[in-house]
Amino acid sequence: MNPSHPLVAEIITIRGKVQGVGFRPFVYRQAKRHGLCGWVRNTNAGVTIFCEGERLRLEAFRTELESQAPPASAIESLSVEPAEPNGFPGFDILQSLDISDDITEISPDIAVCEACLADMHCQPHRISYPLINCTNCGPRFSIVKSLPYDRSNTTMAPFPMCDTCASEYADILDRRFHAQPVACNRCGPVYELWIDGKPVVQSVSEILRYAADLIQQGGILAVKGIGGFHLVCSASDDEAVRSLRLRKGRESKPLAVMFRDIEKARDAVSITPVEEKQLLSWQRPIVLLSQRIDPVLSLAPSLNSGLDTLGVVLPYMPFHYLLLDELTIPAIVLTSGNLTSQPILTETAEAIRTFRPITPVVISHQREIQNRVDDSVVHQIGGQGRLVRRARGFVPDPIPVSLPVDGILAMGGELVNTFCLGKGNRAYLSQYIGDLKNIETQEFYRIAIGRFLDLLRLEPSLIVTDLHPEYHSTKHGRELHEKHGETGKKIPFIQVQHHHAHIASCMAEHGLSERVIGIAFDGTGYGTDGHIWGSEFMAADLKCFERISHFEYLMMPGGDKAAEEPWRMALSALYSVYGKDLPSRGIPMMDLIPEEKSSWILQMLDQQVNTPLSCGAGRYFDAVAALMGLCMTAGYEGEGPMKLEALTQQGIEEAYPVESGETIPLKETISALVADLRSGIPPEVISTRFHNTMARAIVRQTIWIREQTGLDRVVLSGGVFQNRYLTERVLRDLELEKFNVYLQTKAPPNDGGLSLGQLVIAASRRKGRR
Ligand code: ZN
Ligand code: ZN
Ligand code: FE
Repeated sequence: MNPSHPLVAEIITIRGKVQGVGFRPFVYRQAKRHGLCGWVRNTNAGVTIFCEGERLRLEAFRTELESQAPPASAIESLSVEPAEPNGFPGFDILQSLDISDDITEISPDIAVCEACLADMHCQPHRISYPLINCTNCGPRFSIVKSLPYDRSNTTMAPFPMCDTCASEYADILDRRFHAQPVACNRCGPVYELWIDGKPVVQSVSEILRYAADLIQQGGILAVKGIGGFHLVCSASDDEAVRSLRLRKGRESKPLAVMFRDIEKARDAVSITPVEEKQLLSWQRPIVLLSQRIDPVLSLAPSLNSGLDTLGVVLPYMPFHYLLLDELTIPAIVLTSGNLTSQPILTETAEAIRTFRPITPVVISHQREIQNRVDDSVVHQIGGQGRLVRRARGFVPDPIPVSLPVDGILAMGGELVNTFCLGKGNRAYLSQYIGDLKNIETQEFYRIAIGRFLDLLRLEPSLIVTDLHPEYHSTKHGRELHEKHGETGKKIPFIQVQHHHAHIASCMAEHGLSERVIGIAFDGTGYGTDGHIWGSEFMAADLKCFERISHFEYLMMPGGDKAAEEPWRMALSALYSVYGKDLPSRGIPMMDLIPEEKSSWILQMLDQQVNTPLSCGAGRYFDAVAALMGLCMTAGYEGEGPMKLEALTQQGIEEAYPVESGETIPLKETISALVADLRSGIPPEVISTRFHNTMARAIVRQTIWIREQTGLDRVVLSGGVFQNRYLTERVLRDLELEKFNVYLQTKAPPNDGGLSLGQLVIAASRRKGRR
């Protein structure tokens, strides 16, 4: 050692997403390059590095740790402490260490990388190996049982590595160095073909050929994926698609399509640069894209009847690539393997049993799914990528927030549920759980909450739920509250209003805490007046909100039934304008509902029997969709509004009359729309005019609120803002009026983002009390 370059040592602690993303080997290689000695290890705090060497080299090393980190990693903080040089002879990667109660990041599942796809054609032990992976790709969250992230704590534990895999795993220069799920044809889990519940022993090439033949002959099969099963059939064969719908009991909900590659997808849909990035991202979500008016490739019409968008996903598992290679058709349907409103299946035996009425053919693999995780769904609004469903590829990455949320468990809503846990200043939004009215989903919910608490090593110290007393999430939150926490006392419990939570969810990701104008438009949420809300204009901060205005209430004849059957809302809207003497001529809906049904509903409305009040914007969209004959009974949540949106056209600027005020009446809007229907105005024009009216109502009302409050930051949230036409128009017009407008990108604006809002409201109220 040159005495003019004395040896110094330091301990570097890195927090963030640094496990399961090839971070330790990266540290090793950088250390070697700079001739530094010491070690690196995963800890529950993140990654800890001890290194010693010359000062300048240490500094260069530290800079590169941040500037050259692996693509799927995300460093949140890097701290340095001086240490005593130890005289280490080299640099080592040490066993993971359980040292603290602090948590670290688990990576989401990563789509297979290009290098692995190439290896699948040339590495002798991995020729066509359909579960190939490396440090840069493969399963993560879906296979993790506990931390630290080591093979023994994943569902790969039962598969000891062969000598070749073990030597790659141990070779610092290999791309599979310390890749926990590394495997090959000799040692790894394999794919299996089950027909009529019996295993058919075959090679992967035989399985692929069998599957391809079946698909091309119009058959349906179930295939195990990363986070659950899918049902698969040809995307060009309308008969196959219709038969899949019939058997699955999924009448009308659009089905996602997997294309061989982005070029093939362009034959059917148009793709913007933002959407291209989403399609090709390592998260590989389903992207909602506009269908081409002049498609080169014609797909089965019943994939998405009545809509102008198509859910498109590119292959993300090695098996997908192999299967699409085997097929002559360019695209397959890839829809979640579940029965209506139940969670997707993850276990082979269960899949064989459950899918029997749908298909006798189940293709499975032996790598168990520990954490169920659906495909994520995204789209583009206002030039940015937005989430519709946040699951595979995104979970469990945390969302950083600007206040301490530690120990808070937010239970979420009822439909499209997610829950959210706080650790430090990070919000861990769960994967999409689903519809909690369903018993199987409730079980998934409870299990997933338990797993998240374990993985984050958390004991909840505060529970927050929606105000709705009948939500399963509220009831389960209460049960947890009754249980004793660590201190032997009940865990504190609070409830927050649904639409306030929507607004807070958006505020959280933008770091907003001061009062804003919040506009929450959705279908349903329990209001503080006992009525159903959903067209809320409020002044809100993270602690509380003041409801300033909303649409006029409509009666919901039959309660919840009216949300499922939009024609009931249409009758209610008509009744609000005309009373019992409804106009019928020229209204398409009137020919679609039997006389006795409508007179029975009119009686309900007249006598106000079982007619709870709702001002949900979604209900008004429902009513209009039904009036126009687009959707009488909703086959899925939002069907009416989505079909209505599909009719909108650019270039139509007129709107119906609408007023502003504390209660915004829509009677004039409805009567003008009815007049249009009766005079035979084309549906595209009527739909666009209605959308324009909604946008105008929002903009005028927001200006009115600014005049009274002086606030000029506007936060938009709620499921209605998944409507691209409406949201882009509102965004444009509000910005023209010099408002600062905030929309979500990290959590969905629908109820899938609700728990994030609940979490930060709870944190803010707790902070206020302390
Ligand atoms: Zn790879
Ligand atoms: Zn092997
Ligand atoms: Fe909502």
